[in-house]
Amino acid sequence: MRYDHIILGAGIYGLYAAAFLGKKGIKVLVVEYEDGPFRRASWINQARVHHGYHYPRSVSTASRTAMYYRRFNADFPFAINRSFKKIYAISSVGSLTNAPQFLKFCVHVGIPATEINASAYFNPQYVEAAFETEEYAFDPFVVRDALMERVKETGKVDFLFGARLHRAERQGGVYSVAFKDGTKVEAPAVLNATYSSANQVLAKFGFQPMNIKYEICEVIMVGVGERLKEAGLTVMDGQFFSVMPFGLAGSHSLTSVAFTPHLSSYEKLPVFACQAGNPECTPGQLANCNTCPAKPETAFPYMNQLAKKYLSPGMEMGYEGSLFAIKPILLAAELDDSRPTITMRLSDEPSFVSVLSGKINTVYDLDEVL
Ligand SMILES: Cc1cc2nc3c(=O)[nH]c(=O)nc-3n(C[C@H](O)[C@H](O)[C@H](O)COP(=O)(O)OP(=O)(O)OC[C@H]3O[C@@H](n4cnc5c(N)ncnc54)[C@H](O)[C@@H]3O)c2cc1C
Repeated sequence: MRYDHIILGAGIYGLYAAAFLGKKGIKVLVVEYEDGPFRRASWINQARVHHGYHYPRSVSTASRTAMYYRRFNADFPFAINRSFKKIYAISSVGSLTNAPQFLKFCVHVGIPATEINASAYFNPQYVEAAFETEEYAFDPFVVRDALMERVKETGKVDFLFGARLHRAERQGGVYSVAFKDGTKVEAPAVLNATYSSANQVLAKFGFQPMNIKYEICEVIMVGVGERLKEAGLTVMDGQFFSVMPFGLAGSHSLTSVAFTPHLSSYEKLPVFACQAGNPECTPGQLANCNTCPAKPETAFPYMNQLAKKYLSPGMEMGYEGSLFAIKPILLAAELDDSRPTITMRLSDEPSFVSVLSGKINTVYDLDEVL
């Protein structure tokens, strides 16, 4: 099979790229490990349309997401949940920021923040200040369906689902890619949009891996009572938590800096003890944590305990289920907690571009490299 462009990965980055290229008349093959799109991080995340507030220690990440905030909301207006108040609170103990610094940061980035009475949501003993902000949630399934529709409209994009990448070779002006079932595909251009498997794909194409750390993360779905229903709450900045609407379906997600990551790997190709429980998952190719028989036990009791300490009485939540995905984090980003989207053009003829995404709404960074 011969295409103009091969895209590895059918998350938001891969599908956005497929629609972008297909619209230009370019014949694209999207290759995906799973049996369908959006089975990993593009579904399993906090669903926050970042406006910048989350990154008071990285003005570059904050400014970048703030820049794309309106574009994403305008691009997927039907997928956006605007029906809640987004409150950022500053912990009075152990925070890496404080209320005056946070406000100064918001002014600097140009994002609105209005101080409110913290005791409306929080135990005032543990919260220095709380601010109403402007930030929404997106529904991953609605975004997925809209992107699949856009891809289909181009009439130029084929999919290879359930693909097991075997070998990639450069042959003159093309990459020749072979799969374990014997399928072979050629194209003069490849985009690596595999996120947590980015280094694994780089290794197969003969490129140097990036310095990243891998975290197996748990995003918990909770049911909330009336008082919490119309709120999204995030306590900053350090080992705290967030509870906020997850898309449009009515659940909230619960995450915490200390308990969301269960296991970490600092190897260039990811090594986890749990891989012993799943022969499909190796340092050479990650399988899907969410469907893995060896996935970790939920950390809900710990996250719930932490949230209870901070929230005012009557803000209970009930466990509905857990979603697991791997988050790759650039080691250089550990210090300031930044989440840049890295795009790298590693070869020109044939063309090889690799993206390691930081956030959902920085997907528009692809425009430049595509
Ligand atoms: C716990 C968590 C919370 C987050 N919260 C937010 C948030 O609230 N807001 C936000 O903006 N961002 C958030 N993010 C970041 C965001 O989820 C990612 O930046 C984004 O989803 C990455 O999209 P992607 O398309 O690159 O990756 P993915 O959606 O993971 O897609 C990559 C695809 O590549 C496939 N693949 C892997 N290996 C191969 C291979 N060899 N061949 C073919 N296909 C392969 C995978 O199966 C997968 O479908 C969060 C991330 C995590 C993990």
